[in-house]
Amino acid sequence: MANIKKPMDIQPEGAQRYMGKDALRMNIMAGRIVAEIIKTTLGPRGMDKMLVESSGDVMITNDGATILNKIDISHPAAKMIVEVARTQDQEVGDGTTTAVVLAGELLKKAESLLDQEVHVSTITNGYNMALEKTISILREIGNKVSINDEKVLLEVAKTSMTGKAAEKSIEKLAKIAVDAVKIVTNTEDGINSASKEDIKITLKEGGGLEESAIIKGLIVDENRASDSMPKKIKNAKIALLTSPIEVKKTGIDAKIRITSPENVQAFLDQEEFMLKRMVDRVVNTDANVLVCQKAIDETALHFLSKAGVYTMKSVSEKEIKKISKATGARIVNMALDLEPNDLGKAELVEERKVSDEYMTFIEGCVDPKAVSILIRGGTKQFVETVERALDDALGVLLAVVKEGIVCTGAGASEMEISKRLAVFSNSLKGREQLAVKAFAEALEGIPKAIAENSGFDMIDTLVSLRAAHNKDAGQSMGINAKNGKVEDMSKAGVVEPLKLKEQAIKSASEAVIMILRIDDVLAGKELAKSEAYRNMSGWGSQIA
Ligand code: ADP
Ligand code: MG
Repeated sequence: MANIKKPMDIQPEGAQRYMGKDALRMNIMAGRIVAEIIKTTLGPRGMDKMLVESSGDVMITNDGATILNKIDISHPAAKMIVEVARTQDQEVGDGTTTAVVLAGELLKKAESLLDQEVHVSTITNGYNMALEKTISILREIGNKVSINDEKVLLEVAKTSMTGKAAEKSIEKLAKIAVDAVKIVTNTEDGINSASKEDIKITLKEGGGLEESAIIKGLIVDENRASDSMPKKIKNAKIALLTSPIEVKKTGIDAKIRITSPENVQAFLDQEEFMLKRMVDRVVNTDANVLVCQKAIDETALHFLSKAGVYTMKSVSEKEIKKISKATGARIVNMALDLEPNDLGKAELVEERKVSDEYMTFIEGCVDPKAVSILIRGGTKQFVETVERALDDALGVLLAVVKEGIVCTGAGASEMEISKRLAVFSNSLKGREQLAVKAFAEALEGIPKAIAENSGFDMIDTLVSLRAAHNKDAGQSMGINAKNGKVEDMSKAGVVEPLKLKEQAIKSASEAVIMILRIDDVLAGKELAKSEAYRNMSGWGSQIA
Protein backbone atom coordinates (compact mmCIF):
# COMPACT_ATOMS: atom_id res chain seq x y z
CA MET A 1 0.00 0.00 0.00
CA ALA A 2 1.30 3.44 -0.81
CA ASN A 3 2.53 5.54 2.05
CA ILE A 4 0.13 8.44 1.89
CA LYS A 5 1.94 10.44 4.61
CA LYS A 6 4.99 10.95 2.39
CA PRO A 7 4.74 14.28 0.56
CA MET A 8 4.25 13.84 -3.10
CA ASP A 9 7.29 14.55 -5.24
CA ILE A 10 6.45 16.58 -8.26
CA GLN A 11 10.04 17.47 -9.05
CA PRO A 12 12.82 15.05 -9.96
CA GLU A 13 15.48 14.04 -7.50
CA GLY A 14 18.13 16.74 -7.12
CA ALA A 15 15.71 19.57 -7.71
CA GLN A 16 15.14 21.93 -4.82
CA ARG A 17 12.28 23.74 -3.28
CA TYR A 18 12.25 26.53 -0.71
CA MET A 19 8.93 27.48 0.77
CA GLY A 20 7.38 30.33 2.74
CA LYS A 21 9.80 32.10 5.06
CA ASP A 22 12.78 30.11 3.85
CA ALA A 23 12.21 31.22 0.30
CA LEU A 24 11.68 34.81 1.36
CA ARG A 25 14.77 35.01 3.57
CA MET A 26 16.93 33.39 0.95
CA ASN A 27 15.76 35.80 -1.76
CA ILE A 28 16.24 38.84 0.45
CA MET A 29 19.74 37.70 1.23
CA ALA A 30 20.64 37.13 -2.41
CA GLY A 31 19.39 40.58 -3.39
CA ARG A 32 21.22 42.25 -0.53
CA ILE A 33 24.48 40.59 -1.47
CA VAL A 34 24.38 42.10 -4.96
CA ALA A 35 23.72 45.52 -3.46
CA GLU A 36 26.56 45.12 -0.95
CA ILE A 37 29.02 44.27 -3.72
CA ILE A 38 28.57 47.56 -5.51
CA LYS A 39 27.67 49.83 -2.61
CA THR A 40 31.32 50.78 -2.02
CA THR A 41 31.50 52.26 -5.53
CA LEU A 42 28.74 54.85 -4.93
CA GLY A 43 29.62 58.51 -5.15
CA PRO A 44 32.59 60.50 -6.45
CA ARG A 45 34.93 58.95 -3.94
CA GLY A 46 33.63 55.43 -4.29
CA MET A 47 36.11 52.63 -4.78
CA ASP A 48 36.79 50.79 -8.03
CA LYS A 49 36.31 47.12 -8.75
CA MET A 50 38.82 45.07 -10.65
CA LEU A 51 37.05 42.67 -12.95
CA VAL A 52 39.00 39.72 -14.27
CA GLU A 53 37.46 38.01 -17.26
CA SER A 54 37.94 34.35 -18.13
CA SER A 55 40.24 35.44 -20.94
CA GLY A 56 42.45 37.09 -18.31
CA ASP A 57 41.51 40.60 -19.45
CA VAL A 58 41.33 43.05 -16.60
CA MET A 59 38.98 45.97 -16.33
CA ILE A 60 38.95 48.53 -13.56
CA THR A 61 35.72 50.43 -13.13
CA ASN A 62 33.28 51.84 -10.62
CA ASP A 63 30.38 51.89 -13.00
CA GLY A 64 27.54 49.90 -11.44
CA ALA A 65 26.00 48.69 -14.70
CA THR A 66 29.37 47.57 -16.06
CA ILE A 67 30.24 45.64 -12.91
CA LEU A 68 26.95 43.81 -12.75
CA ASN A 69 27.08 43.05 -16.44
CA LYS A 70 30.47 41.43 -16.15
CA ILE A 71 30.07 39.25 -13.10
CA ASP A 72 28.26 35.95 -13.26
CA ILE A 73 25.19 35.91 -11.10
CA SER A 74 23.09 32.78 -11.00
CA HIS A 75 20.68 33.24 -8.12
CA PRO A 76 17.25 34.15 -9.53
CA ALA A 77 16.47 36.82 -6.93
CA ALA A 78 19.94 38.32 -7.31
CA LYS A 79 19.30 38.45 -11.04
CA MET A 80 16.21 40.53 -10.41
CA ILE A 81 18.40 43.14 -8.75
CA VAL A 82 20.83 43.04 -11.67
CA GLU A 83 17.82 43.72 -13.85
CA VAL A 84 17.18 46.90 -11.84
CA ALA A 85 20.61 48.16 -12.89
CA ARG A 86 20.01 47.20 -16.49
CA THR A 87 16.68 49.03 -16.65
CA GLN A 88 18.26 52.10 -15.11
CA ASP A 89 21.09 51.98 -17.62
CA GLN A 90 18.68 51.70 -20.52
CA GLU A 91 16.24 54.32 -19.34
CA VAL A 92 18.65 56.93 -18.03
CA GLY A 93 22.22 55.74 -18.54
CA ASP A 94 23.28 56.81 -15.05
CA GLY A 95 22.18 56.11 -11.48
CA THR A 96 22.63 52.35 -11.67
CA THR A 97 24.49 52.05 -8.39
CA THR A 98 21.95 54.28 -6.68
CA ALA A 99 19.09 52.05 -7.88
CA VAL A 100 20.77 48.86 -6.69
CA VAL A 101 21.85 50.30 -3.34
CA LEU A 102 18.28 51.46 -2.76
CA ALA A 103 16.94 48.00 -3.56
CA GLY A 104 19.40 46.54 -1.04
CA GLU A 105 18.30 49.00 1.65
CA LEU A 106 14.62 48.32 0.99
CA LEU A 107 15.26 44.59 1.34
CA LYS A 108 17.18 45.13 4.57
CA LYS A 109 14.36 47.20 6.06
CA ALA A 110 11.80 44.63 4.93
CA GLU A 111 13.80 41.97 6.71
CA SER A 112 13.63 43.79 10.03
CA LEU A 113 9.92 44.35 9.60
CA LEU A 114 9.51 40.61 9.04
CA ASP A 115 11.47 40.06 12.26
CA GLN A 116 8.89 42.23 13.99
CA GLU A 117 6.17 39.93 12.61
CA VAL A 118 4.85 42.47 10.13
CA HIS A 119 3.11 40.59 7.35
CA VAL A 120 4.61 40.63 3.88
CA SER A 121 1.50 42.09 2.29
CA THR A 122 1.53 44.95 4.79
CA ILE A 123 5.12 45.67 3.77
CA THR A 124 4.41 45.58 0.06
CA ASN A 125 1.32 47.78 0.51
CA GLY A 126 3.29 50.27 2.54
CA TYR A 127 6.15 50.30 0.03
CA ASN A 128 3.68 50.96 -2.78
CA MET A 129 2.15 53.86 -0.87
CA ALA A 130 5.59 55.26 -0.15
CA LEU A 131 6.61 54.97 -3.79
CA GLU A 132 3.56 56.88 -4.96
CA LYS A 133 4.18 59.60 -2.40
CA THR A 134 7.87 59.77 -3.32
CA ILE A 135 7.05 60.46 -6.95
CA SER A 136 4.92 63.44 -6.01
CA ILE A 137 7.51 64.72 -3.52
CA LEU A 138 10.18 64.57 -6.24
CA ARG A 139 8.10 66.90 -8.40
CA GLU A 140 7.75 69.32 -5.49
CA ILE A 141 11.46 69.51 -4.81
CA GLY A 142 12.66 69.54 -8.42
CA ASN A 143 13.75 72.69 -10.23
CA LYS A 144 12.82 73.64 -13.76
CA VAL A 145 15.59 73.98 -16.29
CA SER A 146 15.56 74.98 -19.95
CA ILE A 147 17.79 73.83 -22.78
CA ASN A 148 19.34 77.29 -22.85
CA ASP A 149 20.49 77.08 -19.27
CA GLU A 150 24.05 76.18 -20.19
CA LYS A 151 25.35 76.48 -16.62
CA VAL A 152 22.95 73.92 -15.18
CA LEU A 153 23.39 71.59 -18.14
CA LEU A 154 27.16 71.65 -17.62
CA GLU A 155 26.63 70.91 -13.92
CA VAL A 156 24.38 67.97 -14.71
CA ALA A 157 27.01 66.56 -17.07
CA LYS A 158 29.84 67.09 -14.59
CA THR A 159 27.91 65.54 -11.70
CA SER A 160 27.39 62.35 -13.67
CA MET A 161 31.07 62.09 -14.52
CA THR A 162 32.51 62.94 -11.10
CA GLY A 163 34.68 60.07 -10.00
CA LYS A 164 34.49 58.39 -13.40
CA ALA A 165 37.19 60.37 -15.18
CA ALA A 166 39.99 62.76 -14.24
CA GLU A 167 38.88 66.20 -13.04
CA LYS A 168 40.59 67.95 -15.95
CA SER A 169 38.92 65.75 -18.55
CA ILE A 170 35.50 66.32 -17.02
CA GLU A 171 35.44 70.05 -17.88
CA LYS A 172 36.24 69.35 -21.48
CA LEU A 173 33.90 66.36 -21.80
CA ALA A 174 30.99 68.18 -20.16
CA LYS A 175 31.22 70.96 -22.73
CA ILE A 176 31.36 68.43 -25.57
CA ALA A 177 28.36 66.51 -24.20
CA VAL A 178 26.23 69.65 -23.71
CA ASP A 179 27.03 70.92 -27.23
CA ALA A 180 26.20 67.55 -28.74
CA VAL A 181 22.86 67.26 -26.95
CA LYS A 182 21.88 70.81 -27.88
CA ILE A 183 22.54 70.11 -31.53
CA VAL A 184 20.49 66.92 -31.72
CA THR A 185 17.53 68.28 -29.75
CA ASN A 186 14.39 69.10 -31.69
CA THR A 187 11.88 71.48 -30.17
CA GLU A 188 8.30 71.35 -31.26
CA ASP A 189 5.41 73.08 -29.46
CA GLY A 190 7.69 73.62 -26.50
CA ILE A 191 8.45 69.93 -26.20
CA ASN A 192 12.02 68.76 -26.63
CA SER A 193 12.86 65.46 -28.19
CA ALA A 194 16.29 63.97 -28.66
CA SER A 195 17.82 60.56 -29.13
CA LYS A 196 21.15 59.04 -28.25
CA GLU A 197 21.08 57.37 -31.67
CA ASP A 198 21.95 60.71 -33.23
CA ILE A 199 25.17 61.03 -31.31
CA LYS A 200 27.98 58.88 -32.53
CA ILE A 201 31.02 58.36 -30.37
CA THR A 202 34.23 57.44 -32.19
CA LEU A 203 37.18 56.28 -30.11
CA LYS A 204 40.76 56.66 -31.30
CA GLU A 205 43.73 55.72 -29.22
CA GLY A 206 46.69 58.04 -29.45
CA GLY A 207 46.99 61.77 -28.98
CA GLY A 208 45.63 63.48 -25.90
CA LEU A 209 42.16 64.06 -24.57
CA GLU A 210 42.48 67.76 -25.44
CA GLU A 211 42.36 66.71 -29.09
CA SER A 212 38.90 65.25 -28.54
CA ALA A 213 36.28 67.24 -30.29
CA ILE A 214 32.70 67.48 -31.30
CA ILE A 215 32.16 67.47 -35.00
CA LYS A 216 29.04 69.22 -36.19
CA GLY A 217 28.49 66.54 -38.67
CA LEU A 218 30.01 63.15 -38.97
CA ILE A 219 33.15 61.15 -38.90
CA VAL A 220 33.03 58.27 -41.32
CA ASP A 221 35.50 55.46 -40.82
CA GLU A 222 36.39 55.42 -44.53
CA ASN A 223 38.95 57.12 -46.72
CA ARG A 224 38.88 58.33 -50.30
CA ALA A 225 38.53 55.53 -52.79
CA SER A 226 41.57 56.76 -54.71
CA ASP A 227 44.65 58.86 -53.94
CA SER A 228 44.15 60.93 -57.04
CA MET A 229 40.90 62.36 -55.70
CA PRO A 230 40.92 65.69 -53.87
CA LYS A 231 41.60 65.42 -50.12
CA LYS A 232 39.39 68.28 -49.19
CA ILE A 233 36.15 69.61 -50.61
CA LYS A 234 34.74 72.95 -49.54
CA ASN A 235 31.04 73.62 -50.08
CA ALA A 236 30.45 69.95 -50.50
CA LYS A 237 27.46 68.72 -52.45
CA ILE A 238 26.92 65.14 -51.44
CA ALA A 239 25.32 62.30 -53.36
CA LEU A 240 24.30 59.06 -51.63
CA LEU A 241 23.86 55.86 -53.63
CA THR A 242 22.88 52.36 -52.56
CA SER A 243 23.61 50.45 -55.78
CA PRO A 244 27.08 49.72 -57.15
CA ILE A 245 28.60 51.65 -60.01
CA GLU A 246 29.50 48.64 -62.08
CA VAL A 247 28.44 47.05 -65.29
CA LYS A 248 26.95 43.64 -64.60
CA LYS A 249 29.44 40.99 -65.68
CA THR A 250 27.99 39.26 -68.70
CA GLY A 251 26.52 35.91 -67.77
CA ILE A 252 26.38 32.78 -69.93
CA ASP A 253 23.07 33.80 -71.52
CA ALA A 254 24.44 37.05 -72.77
CA LYS A 255 27.65 35.62 -74.13
CA ILE A 256 29.06 37.85 -76.78
CA ARG A 257 30.85 36.20 -79.59
CA ILE A 258 34.23 37.74 -79.69
CA THR A 259 35.88 36.81 -82.91
CA SER A 260 38.34 39.58 -83.48
CA PRO A 261 40.39 42.16 -81.48
CA GLU A 262 37.99 44.84 -82.72
CA ASN A 263 35.16 42.93 -81.09
CA VAL A 264 36.92 42.93 -77.72
CA GLN A 265 37.54 46.60 -78.03
CA ALA A 266 33.91 47.23 -78.89
CA PHE A 267 32.81 45.27 -75.86
CA LEU A 268 35.16 47.15 -73.57
CA ASP A 269 34.13 50.45 -75.10
CA GLN A 270 30.54 49.56 -74.43
CA GLU A 271 31.28 48.82 -70.78
CA GLU A 272 33.31 51.99 -70.43
CA PHE A 273 30.54 53.94 -72.07
CA MET A 274 27.99 52.71 -69.56
CA LEU A 275 30.23 53.52 -66.61
CA LYS A 276 30.94 56.95 -68.06
CA ARG A 277 27.22 57.59 -68.35
CA MET A 278 26.72 56.80 -64.65
CA VAL A 279 29.62 58.99 -63.57
CA ASP A 280 28.47 61.81 -65.83
CA ARG A 281 25.06 61.68 -64.25
CA VAL A 282 26.63 62.14 -60.82
CA VAL A 283 28.91 64.92 -62.02
CA ASN A 284 26.13 66.70 -63.91
CA THR A 285 24.02 67.04 -60.79
CA ASP A 286 26.94 69.15 -59.56
CA ALA A 287 27.91 66.65 -56.84
CA ASN A 288 31.51 66.86 -55.68
CA VAL A 289 31.23 64.14 -53.04
CA LEU A 290 29.89 60.66 -53.71
CA VAL A 291 29.16 58.09 -51.02
CA CYS A 292 28.27 54.64 -52.29
CA GLN A 293 27.04 51.74 -50.20
CA LYS A 294 28.42 49.20 -52.69
CA ALA A 295 31.44 48.72 -54.92
CA ILE A 296 32.61 51.08 -57.63
CA ASP A 297 34.38 49.84 -60.74
CA GLU A 298 38.03 50.92 -61.18
CA THR A 299 37.25 52.63 -64.47
CA ALA A 300 34.43 54.59 -62.85
CA LEU A 301 36.77 55.60 -60.05
CA HIS A 302 39.18 56.86 -62.66
CA PHE A 303 36.46 59.04 -64.19
CA LEU A 304 35.39 60.27 -60.76
CA SER A 305 39.00 61.22 -59.93
CA LYS A 306 39.29 63.12 -63.18
CA ALA A 307 36.10 65.01 -62.37
CA GLY A 308 37.49 65.84 -58.90
CA VAL A 309 34.78 63.98 -56.97
CA TYR A 310 35.67 62.87 -53.43
CA THR A 311 34.34 59.31 -53.46
CA MET A 312 33.82 56.75 -50.72
CA LYS A 313 32.73 53.22 -51.54
CA SER A 314 31.42 50.25 -49.51
CA VAL A 315 30.07 52.50 -46.77
CA SER A 316 27.61 50.77 -44.42
CA GLU A 317 23.88 51.38 -44.70
CA LYS A 318 23.83 52.73 -41.14
CA GLU A 319 26.50 55.26 -41.96
CA ILE A 320 24.74 56.33 -45.15
CA LYS A 321 21.56 56.97 -43.17
CA LYS A 322 23.50 59.12 -40.72
CA ILE A 323 25.07 61.13 -43.52
CA SER A 324 21.64 61.61 -44.99
CA LYS A 325 20.31 62.88 -41.67
CA ALA A 326 23.20 65.26 -41.11
CA THR A 327 23.48 66.72 -44.62
CA GLY A 328 19.93 66.48 -45.90
CA ALA A 329 20.99 64.30 -48.83
CA ARG A 330 18.38 61.93 -50.18
CA ILE A 331 19.40 58.29 -50.47
CA VAL A 332 19.09 57.23 -54.12
CA ASN A 333 19.33 53.73 -55.49
CA MET A 334 20.89 54.01 -58.96
CA ALA A 335 23.38 56.58 -60.22
CA LEU A 336 21.27 57.17 -63.32
CA ASP A 337 18.31 58.27 -61.18
CA LEU A 338 20.23 60.97 -59.34
CA GLU A 339 18.78 64.50 -59.47
CA PRO A 340 20.34 67.78 -58.33
CA ASN A 341 17.84 68.19 -55.49
CA ASP A 342 18.86 64.82 -54.04
CA LEU A 343 22.19 66.27 -52.96
CA GLY A 344 23.04 67.12 -49.36
CA LYS A 345 25.28 69.94 -48.20
CA ALA A 346 28.22 70.42 -45.88
CA GLU A 347 30.78 73.18 -45.54
CA LEU A 348 33.63 70.74 -45.61
CA VAL A 349 34.39 67.13 -46.45
CA GLU A 350 37.95 66.21 -45.67
CA GLU A 351 40.13 63.17 -45.24
CA ARG A 352 42.25 63.37 -42.11
CA LYS A 353 44.72 61.03 -40.53
CA VAL A 354 43.79 60.10 -36.98
CA SER A 355 46.45 57.95 -35.34
CA ASP A 356 47.33 55.58 -38.17
CA GLU A 357 44.03 55.56 -39.93
CA TYR A 358 42.40 57.79 -42.44
CA MET A 359 38.89 58.97 -41.75
CA THR A 360 36.49 61.26 -43.52
CA PHE A 361 35.17 64.28 -41.66
CA ILE A 362 31.92 65.80 -42.85
CA GLU A 363 31.60 69.16 -41.14
CA GLY A 364 29.53 72.30 -41.09
CA CYS A 365 26.25 70.69 -41.94
CA VAL A 366 23.36 73.12 -42.33
CA ASP A 367 21.09 71.65 -39.71
CA PRO A 368 22.94 68.66 -38.34
CA LYS A 369 20.49 66.40 -36.57
CA ALA A 370 23.33 63.98 -35.96
CA VAL A 371 26.76 64.69 -34.48
CA SER A 372 29.97 62.81 -33.88
CA ILE A 373 32.19 62.97 -30.88
CA LEU A 374 35.79 62.01 -31.40
CA ILE A 375 37.53 60.78 -28.27
CA ARG A 376 41.32 60.76 -28.25
CA GLY A 377 43.56 59.48 -25.49
CA GLY A 378 46.75 57.64 -24.76
CA THR A 379 45.55 54.11 -24.18
CA LYS A 380 42.63 51.84 -24.99
CA GLN A 381 41.72 51.65 -21.28
CA PHE A 382 41.70 55.42 -21.06
CA VAL A 383 39.48 56.06 -24.06
CA GLU A 384 37.10 53.35 -22.91
CA THR A 385 36.82 54.90 -19.44
CA VAL A 386 36.17 58.25 -21.05
CA GLU A 387 33.52 56.69 -23.27
CA ARG A 388 31.68 55.24 -20.26
CA ALA A 389 31.80 58.61 -18.48
CA LEU A 390 30.60 60.41 -21.59
CA ASP A 391 27.82 57.90 -22.04
CA ASP A 392 26.56 58.69 -18.52
CA ALA A 393 26.75 62.41 -19.24
CA LEU A 394 24.80 62.10 -22.49
CA GLY A 395 22.18 59.98 -20.74
CA VAL A 396 21.53 62.51 -17.99
CA LEU A 397 21.58 65.46 -20.35
CA LEU A 398 19.00 63.87 -22.63
CA ALA A 399 16.84 63.13 -19.59
CA VAL A 400 17.09 66.74 -18.41
CA VAL A 401 16.44 68.22 -21.82
CA LYS A 402 13.37 66.04 -22.34
CA GLU A 403 11.83 66.43 -18.90
CA GLY A 404 13.18 69.83 -17.95
CA ILE A 405 13.52 69.17 -14.20
CA VAL A 406 16.59 68.65 -12.04
CA CYS A 407 17.03 67.55 -8.43
CA THR A 408 19.91 68.10 -6.08
CA GLY A 409 22.41 65.25 -5.73
CA ALA A 410 24.90 64.36 -3.00
CA GLY A 411 22.18 62.74 -0.90
CA ALA A 412 20.13 65.94 -0.67
CA SER A 413 17.04 64.72 -2.52
CA GLU A 414 16.99 61.33 -0.81
CA MET A 415 17.26 62.99 2.59
CA GLU A 416 14.48 65.44 1.81
CA ILE A 417 12.17 62.71 0.51
CA SER A 418 12.97 60.64 3.58
CA LYS A 419 12.01 63.51 5.86
CA ARG A 420 8.74 64.20 4.05
CA LEU A 421 7.84 60.52 3.90
CA ALA A 422 8.30 60.21 7.66
CA VAL A 423 5.85 63.07 8.14
CA PHE A 424 3.45 61.40 5.71
CA SER A 425 3.71 58.08 7.55
CA ASN A 426 2.43 59.72 10.74
CA SER A 427 -0.80 60.48 8.96
CA LEU A 428 -1.40 56.79 8.28
CA LYS A 429 -3.48 54.63 10.56
CA GLY A 430 -2.65 50.97 9.98
CA ARG A 431 0.56 48.99 10.21
CA GLU A 432 1.48 50.25 6.74
CA GLN A 433 2.79 53.22 8.67
CA LEU A 434 5.73 51.06 9.72
CA ALA A 435 6.49 50.12 6.12
CA VAL A 436 6.37 53.73 4.92
CA LYS A 437 8.75 54.69 7.75
CA ALA A 438 11.03 51.83 6.72
CA PHE A 439 10.97 53.09 3.12
CA ALA A 440 11.93 56.56 4.38
CA GLU A 441 14.85 55.11 6.32
CA ALA A 442 15.97 53.08 3.32
CA LEU A 443 16.38 56.30 1.34
CA GLU A 444 18.90 57.51 3.91
CA GLY A 445 21.06 54.65 2.65
CA ILE A 446 22.24 56.89 -0.21
CA PRO A 447 23.70 59.78 1.84
CA LYS A 448 25.01 57.16 4.29
CA ALA A 449 26.91 55.36 1.54
CA ILE A 450 28.27 58.62 0.10
CA ALA A 451 29.57 59.60 3.55
CA GLU A 452 31.00 56.19 4.25
CA ASN A 453 32.69 55.85 0.86
CA SER A 454 34.21 59.31 1.22
CA GLY A 455 35.72 58.33 4.55
CA PHE A 456 33.62 60.64 6.70
CA ASP A 457 32.12 59.67 10.02
CA MET A 458 28.81 58.24 8.95
CA ILE A 459 26.83 58.90 12.13
CA ASP A 460 28.02 62.49 12.60
CA THR A 461 27.47 63.37 8.96
CA LEU A 462 23.99 61.90 8.94
CA VAL A 463 23.02 63.70 12.13
CA SER A 464 24.08 67.07 10.73
CA LEU A 465 22.38 66.30 7.42
CA ARG A 466 19.10 65.49 9.18
CA ALA A 467 19.37 68.66 11.23
CA ALA A 468 20.04 70.74 8.10
CA HIS A 469 16.92 69.38 6.44
CA ASN A 470 14.81 70.21 9.43
CA LYS A 471 15.60 73.88 9.00
CA ASP A 472 13.74 76.12 6.56
CA ALA A 473 15.10 76.03 3.02
CA GLY A 474 17.22 73.03 3.89
CA GLN A 475 16.06 70.84 1.05
CA SER A 476 19.22 71.13 -1.03
CA MET A 477 21.57 70.33 1.80
CA GLY A 478 23.79 67.40 0.93
CA ILE A 479 27.18 65.93 1.68
CA ASN A 480 30.02 67.51 -0.22
CA ALA A 481 32.29 64.60 -0.98
CA LYS A 482 35.20 66.97 -1.50
CA ASN A 483 35.31 68.38 2.04
CA GLY A 484 32.93 66.31 4.12
CA LYS A 485 30.78 69.34 4.88
CA VAL A 486 27.02 69.40 4.85
CA GLU A 487 26.18 72.24 2.48
CA ASP A 488 23.80 73.48 -0.19
CA MET A 489 24.76 71.13 -3.01
CA SER A 490 22.51 72.83 -5.52
CA LYS A 491 24.70 75.91 -5.16
CA ALA A 492 27.75 73.64 -5.37
CA GLY A 493 26.45 72.48 -8.74
CA VAL A 494 25.73 68.85 -7.91
CA VAL A 495 22.49 68.33 -9.80
CA GLU A 496 20.85 65.36 -11.44
CA PRO A 497 17.81 64.76 -13.63
CA LEU A 498 14.54 64.12 -11.86
CA LYS A 499 14.16 61.18 -14.20
CA LEU A 500 17.28 59.54 -12.75
CA LYS A 501 15.96 59.68 -9.19
CA GLU A 502 12.46 58.70 -10.16
CA GLN A 503 13.54 55.73 -12.25
CA ALA A 504 16.01 54.53 -9.62
CA ILE A 505 13.48 54.62 -6.79
CA LYS A 506 10.76 53.14 -8.95
CA SER A 507 12.72 50.19 -10.31
CA ALA A 508 14.27 49.48 -6.93
CA SER A 509 10.93 49.35 -5.12
CA GLU A 510 9.20 47.44 -7.88
CA ALA A 511 11.89 44.74 -7.86
CA VAL A 512 11.84 44.55 -4.06
CA ILE A 513 8.06 44.24 -3.96
CA MET A 514 8.28 41.49 -6.53
CA ILE A 515 10.89 39.64 -4.49
CA LEU A 516 8.87 39.99 -1.28
CA ARG A 517 5.79 38.50 -2.91
CA ILE A 518 7.54 35.23 -3.75
CA ASP A 519 6.76 32.51 -1.23
CA ASP A 520 7.98 29.51 -3.10
CA VAL A 521 11.18 28.88 -5.03
CA LEU A 522 11.30 25.81 -7.20
CA ALA A 523 14.70 25.25 -8.67
CA GLY A 524 15.39 22.85 -11.49
CA LYS A 525 18.11 20.21 -11.09
CA GLU A 526 20.85 22.16 -12.83
CA LEU A 527 20.35 25.35 -10.88
CA ALA A 528 20.02 23.53 -7.57
CA LYS A 529 23.40 21.90 -8.24
CA SER A 530 25.12 25.20 -8.96
CA GLU A 531 27.74 26.37 -6.53
CA ALA A 532 26.27 29.83 -6.12
CA TYR A 533 22.84 28.53 -5.29
CA ARG A 534 24.04 25.94 -2.79
CA ASN A 535 26.23 28.47 -1.03
CA MET A 536 23.37 30.79 -0.24
CA SER A 537 23.55 30.22 3.49
CA GLY A 538 27.28 30.79 3.46
CA TRP A 539 26.84 34.16 1.76
CA GLY A 540 24.54 35.33 4.48
CA SER A 541 27.38 35.66 6.95
CA GLN A 542 29.15 38.15 4.69
CA ILE A 543 26.73 40.95 5.38
CA ALA A 544 25.84 42.64 8.60
P1 ADP B 1 25.41 55.91 -9.90
O1 ADP B 1 25.79 54.66 -10.64
O2 ADP B 1 24.21 55.70 -9.05
O3 ADP B 1 25.33 57.11 -10.75
P2 ADP B 1 27.78 57.12 -8.82
O4 ADP B 1 28.98 56.39 -8.34
O5 ADP B 1 27.88 57.87 -10.09
O6 ADP B 1 26.59 56.11 -8.86
O7 ADP B 1 27.37 58.12 -7.67
C1 ADP B 1 26.26 58.93 -7.77
C2 ADP B 1 26.01 59.66 -6.48
O8 ADP B 1 27.10 60.53 -6.17
C3 ADP B 1 24.78 60.53 -6.61
O9 ADP B 1 23.99 60.41 -5.47
C4 ADP B 1 25.37 61.92 -6.76
O10 ADP B 1 24.50 62.92 -6.33
C5 ADP B 1 26.59 61.82 -5.88
N1 ADP B 1 27.58 62.87 -6.12
C6 ADP B 1 28.07 63.33 -7.29
N2 ADP B 1 28.95 64.34 -7.09
C7 ADP B 1 29.03 64.53 -5.76
C8 ADP B 1 29.77 65.42 -4.90
N3 ADP B 1 30.62 66.33 -5.40
N4 ADP B 1 29.60 65.29 -3.58
C9 ADP B 1 28.75 64.36 -3.08
N5 ADP B 1 28.04 63.51 -3.82
C10 ADP B 1 28.16 63.59 -5.13
MG1 MG C 1 26.72 58.17 -11.78
